[in-house]
Amino acid sequence: MNIVLFNKDLRISDHQPLTEAARAGEVLPLYVFEPSLWKEAPLSARHFEFVVESLDELAKGIEDQGGKLFFAINEMKMVLDKLLDIYDSINLFLHNDIRLMDIVAEWARQNEQRVFSYGPELENVPGKLFNNRLNSYLKELLAEVPNKIDVPSKIPDFLFTDFKKLQNFKVKGNKIRFGQQGGEMKAAETLDSFLEGRFSNYIENHQKPLPSSLSSSRLSAYITWGNISVRTVFQKTDEKLQACELEEDKIQLEEFLSKLTARMKICSTENKDQQLPNDSNIKREWNEDWFQRWLQGRTGIPIIDAAMRSLDKTGWMNFSLRAMVTSFIANTLSLDERNPSSALAELYLDYEPAVHDFYVQQQVGMKRKMKIIDPVKVGRQLDPDGAFIRRYIPELSKLPDEYIHEPWLYPAFYQLGYEAPMVDVKKMNKHARLQYQALKSKGKDILKKEEGESEQLSFDF
Ligand SMILES: Cc1cc2nc3c(=O)[nH]c(=O)nc-3n(C[C@H](O)[C@H](O)[C@H](O)COP(=O)(O)OP(=O)(O)OC[C@H]3O[C@@H](n4cnc5c(N)ncnc54)[C@H](O)[C@@H]3O)c2cc1C
Repeated sequence: MNIVLFNKDLRISDHQPLTEAARAGEVLPLYVFEPSLWKEAPLSARHFEFVVESLDELAKGIEDQGGKLFFAINEMKMVLDKLLDIYDSINLFLHNDIRLMDIVAEWARQNEQRVFSYGPELENVPGKLFNNRLNSYLKELLAEVPNKIDVPSKIPDFLFTDFKKLQNFKVKGNKIRFGQQGGEMKAAETLDSFLEGRFSNYIENHQKPLPSSLSSSRLSAYITWGNISVRTVFQKTDEKLQACELEEDKIQLEEFLSKLTARMKICSTENKDQQLPNDSNIKREWNEDWFQRWLQGRTGIPIIDAAMRSLDKTGWMNFSLRAMVTSFIANTLSLDERNPSSALAELYLDYEPAVHDFYVQQQVGMKRKMKIIDPVKVGRQLDPDGAFIRRYIPELSKLPDEYIHEPWLYPAFYQLGYEAPMVDVKKMNKHARLQYQALKSKGKDILKKEEGESEQLSFDF
């Protein structure tokens, strides 16, 4: 039996495993809800909802071609064992996602079954060769949607197609009302609207909290969950780029493509267990009250609070805000970054372990110089008129511009109903800097620049 294992590739377009499996004969398209993954990884109800929305559209797409999408709730190895009991031999078709491949390849080896994996072979490929391989992968012809998907004549009892059965699958965290909706159609619409015009101020608005939510692509969740393939994004963008008459437009799209390839580079670099190492050189303590105030957007520092409240509501933040809230909790407050990192991952709809861990490590000084950020100073640069702050902190909506980043200086501050700042940021940052310098002079190698890390991956205010 030809089994297509869907994972973070929830689409029918440019899905090579599905195309190849359909060519081989009867196909069982399958999505497995692995309880341990949803329990232990920083995945939450908002991710689950996005996945279910994506699967709903995928199921319809497969049905249109005559097939059926099946679901199972169990650990992957158990599901494969059960499938092998029913079908004497199985061929597994999947994209080469590191986590899933580890499980599937080992199981297939032990059980002498065949695995066909697809996707770019970029893992730990050095410099120039990486760029060549990546380029040829991105320019390859897209996989055709199969004309016909033959449903297997024998279907195991433990598989199901009814979405109602997922209601009992409990996942931590809350759903969101204002987040992006999952699915291939939304992904395609988002790319189209970006290329039709939203991209024109991509660079200028990239760091600004409110403008970036419109003029950056907003494709990250769709790319993370595979509602659209990276090469579809690349090829459509490249087509647009070739057609651009204005040099300025070309520059915007080239910058966008460089982010896309940065992502592929990060995802293909080995990051052992995809967890943050616990041997950070800076001694970090734990303070639950500080953590909760940060998480709930009640630190009393407007730009941090607006960022955390917006993330809670929408599931998205731009790069600069992600960097700032991470630096605040781990560097300014010197809290152990592992819990905050997981808490953020549960909130980012586009959570991608390799990318997220890479940047958290970069912020806290595990990759290069620790990034200590003054949220008042940088907040003023990013959100000069406080429009972002006013949108997410109603307590400050009527505050005059001059006080919006330092409301505690406002004469009637205590009537606003907004928190007083939980710490003196300047003092805390000074302390963090001294601690960091002391470590540096002890000869610790936290400044060591990672080999192969390209400049475009660095970010400085
Ligand atoms: C601490 C921290 C954690 C992050 N965690 C994630 C994460 O879990 N998932 C994630 O997709 N991005 C993450 N990023 C990178 C970046 O912030 C987001 O990709 C971006 O904000 C997504 O918005 P967009 O789709 O509009 O991006 P665009 O600017 O339109 O970029 C297009 C695509 O390129 C990729 N991309 C954009 N910026 C970067 C970058 N600097 N590095 C690598 N890839 C990039 C994304 O897939 C994005 O969809 C993180 C950044 C920081 C500082």
